[in-house]
Amino acid sequence: CGIVGYIGHREAYPIVIKGLKRLEYRGYDSAGVMLYDANEGVKLCKTKGKVSDLEAKAKENLTVNGTIGIGHTRWATHGVPNDVNSHPHLSNSGDLVIIHNGIIENYAPLKEELIKRGYTFKSDTDTEVLVNLIEEVQKKENIKLGKAVQIALNQVVGAYAIAVFDKKNPNEIVAARLGSPLAIGVGEGEYFIASDASPFIEYTSNAVYLEDGEMANIRLHKPLKVRKIKDDSLVDPYIQELQM
Ligand code: GLU
Repeated sequence: CGIVGYIGHREAYPIVIKGLKRLEYRGYDSAGVMLYDANEGVKLCKTKGKVSDLEAKAKENLTVNGTIGIGHTRWATHGVPNDVNSHPHLSNSGDLVIIHNGIIENYAPLKEELIKRGYTFKSDTDTEVLVNLIEEVQKKENIKLGKAVQIALNQVVGAYAIAVFDKKNPNEIVAARLGSPLAIGVGEGEYFIASDASPFIEYTSNAVYLEDGEMANIRLHKPLKVRKIKDDSLVDPYIQELQM
């Protein structure tokens, strides 16, 4: 399983697809991608199978322009491998998009609570519970995505590397990790997100490896903001020089 993300000035699709291929060694059963374009909004394509199957499906179903993108390879833990259970997952409003590697252990009680509040679920995944929990927190508190992710993750038991996008504020991706790896590539006016540095090493040699329990606001033309999920305290991100 693996995660790739891009926000910057280049076309995201080829970077995300090539990145997912570099992460294929991690094993997976499905693959998916979200692209965002100011005119077309959020565009999703996902499928059971290989990254090459995703490319074939995208050729038929997706306009591949957009300078923001996230991609995922799934190793199913909750819900069989099929197109619907593949990531990315949308929140009920359609505003939030998530990719997730890992397991949300307490998804069942959280899901029950959300269903009581009127949420519906398309997939059988634990991940769709998390994205709707984030949405519920965001709506209730009327807060930005980063803060909502932080509050939601404090209600979650499990392991995760996630990237979350909010089309209401499309210049940002929020990433977080606990127990699954996540690296951020820092370029000139662009950022990369990935399970390891291999998807972005050809574009930048500067990387920030999130520590367990950290999250990052990855914003276009703004410095990386890293903080601890537990108490919201800011962390000075250590930018590591990778050997090309
Ligand atoms: N638990 C999630 C699912 O089953 C993510 C699995 C993964 O790590 O790819 O969809």
